[in-house]
Amino acid sequence: MASGSGAEAVSGAQLIAESLKAQNIEYMFGIVGIPVTEIAVAAQAVGIKYVGMRNEQAVMFFVFTFLFFLSHFVLFSSRPGVCLVVSGPGFLHALGGMANATINCWPLIVIGGSSDRNQETMGAFQEFPQVEAGRLYNKLSVRPSSLEVIPFFLRRTSIYGRPGACYIDIPGDFVNLQVNKSSVKYMECCLPPPVSTAEQSAVSKALCIIAHSKQPLLIIGKGAAYSHAENNIRKLVDLCGLPFLPTPMAKGVVPDDHPNCVAAARSTALQHADVIILLGARLNWILHFGLPPRFRQDVKVIQIDICAEELGNNVRPAATLFGDINAVTQQLLEEFGKRPLKYPSNSEWWKQLREKIVSNEERSKGLALQKTLPMNYYTVFHHIRELIPKDCIIVSEGANTMDIGRTMLPNYYPRQRLDAGTFGTMGVGLGFAIAAAMVAKDRTPEKRIICIEGDSAFGFSGMEVETICRHNLPILIIVVNNNGIYTGLDADAWKEMLKFGDPATCVPPVSLLPNSHYEKIMSAFGGKGYFVKTPEELQNALRASLADKQTPSLVNVMIDPQSERKKQEFHWLTRSNL
Ligand code: ADP
Ligand code: MG
Repeated sequence: MASGSGAEAVSGAQLIAESLKAQNIEYMFGIVGIPVTEIAVAAQAVGIKYVGMRNEQAVMFFVFTFLFFLSHFVLFSSRPGVCLVVSGPGFLHALGGMANATINCWPLIVIGGSSDRNQETMGAFQEFPQVEAGRLYNKLSVRPSSLEVIPFFLRRTSIYGRPGACYIDIPGDFVNLQVNKSSVKYMECCLPPPVSTAEQSAVSKALCIIAHSKQPLLIIGKGAAYSHAENNIRKLVDLCGLPFLPTPMAKGVVPDDHPNCVAAARSTALQHADVIILLGARLNWILHFGLPPRFRQDVKVIQIDICAEELGNNVRPAATLFGDINAVTQQLLEEFGKRPLKYPSNSEWWKQLREKIVSNEERSKGLALQKTLPMNYYTVFHHIRELIPKDCIIVSEGANTMDIGRTMLPNYYPRQRLDAGTFGTMGVGLGFAIAAAMVAKDRTPEKRIICIEGDSAFGFSGMEVETICRHNLPILIIVVNNNGIYTGLDADAWKEMLKFGDPATCVPPVSLLPNSHYEKIMSAFGGKGYFVKTPEELQNALRASLADKQTPSLVNVMIDPQSERKKQEFHWLTRSNL
């Protein structure tokens, strides 16, 4: 594959960099080493910013948030994130991130180095069957057959149809191999993903079903956030007077304080709705598969999704609107323009929902205002809510911390809440927060990033605090510390347990070391750390952290290790996100 006489030759590394540039990729994230370092250098040479990180999984989480948040400024779906990882262990560390991206439907390209082709099966350095391994985790897992076709695989797959991760395997010997530029194919930028609309007959059918509904409910999923459908969905809610319920990462597509938001009556809304308009949310575990007892047996589902295979999964829909959510809601709005429908705000359904909202909010308020020490989750979130800015980005992970935080902390803008997502992945928080803070630094320096972690969740990627301090990103991390996973032991109970033996035999597996001073990790790297036990200390620490717009901080909040969520009304509501 030597270059032809007189023709311009480029190396594999340059070709990859130029192909990415041709697709308008601005950033590459990764961890370099053999054999991919040259690719990062070539990317920088063509003007792509290279951001080095410490752990491949964090790189993947980082990339997604970067895109999600960046999408405030550019169209989200038009460009994938790009990651660069080394062979063998580097690739393997990245698999969790690839699975996370694919399961959450996030566009991602992972470029992985692999061993030289002439050493394959010989026990080469970090040799591993990467393409085969990548197949389970990606929409596409492939090794280009030649340098000339590399650009083909860097173009469309991650962003067309349902977005997902793609793995492109680059053997080490490809990196420095030369190719004649004139023989390279598919260099031009691919067109933005085509926007599809639903069949008109399906739109009319949906309208008819909604018009006859007595207890309608709109469920807004993160597909709606991806498709930037916030304006159209807001219009739909206002025009038709529909109650709506966001899924965790769709919070803010329509603001949580909109009068039609029935999040505080979630169970009642799901259980009694006779018609559900499902905007970009799968009927998976998060929505109890769309089945009884969470849903009515006879519920009519109007399903809107960009992925044909998703339509009719678990529940047979009454109408299927196959298309992009923004485009389909536009179609619905046009139809409603011709046949106006306003769902009456004095209906029995609204009355039932409002009563439930009031009683649930009362219960939370009661817990939030408890004065007993140690604090419970609701008290902590109450004070956080009082002090954080309305337009901050909220990153959250942990079991109770994430679930209770989701109900207690409102979102007012789309794409500003990030959490463990469909895959329930722990360890995403700091990567997400760093990414959001990097974008904010370039584009909206005033925006605050608040990362609210359970103590267990924080442990998965706590060392990224060094990355935060190295880049001087003014992230506020709040560790809601209950000394454990789900629940923990206080110092006295811990001591009692140890009388019977060592922690490996006597301490409940959910317990972590009581009163751990996680804030010292932050101060070790030059940020500010606070250890707080009372509402006053919490308020003071939050005020000081928010006032300082230059310095990263970590507030370690000790709560009652046995603090729990509110008692669920139904025995089948035991799973964390429900
Ligand atoms: P949630 O976690 O909010 O319930 P899911 O991740 O389960 O959401 O579902 C998101 C759905 O949105 C997926 O089925 C995906 O195919 C769909 N989707 C993604 N982007 C779009 C889009 N632009 N238009 C329509 N549907 C989309
Ligand atoms: Mg905990």
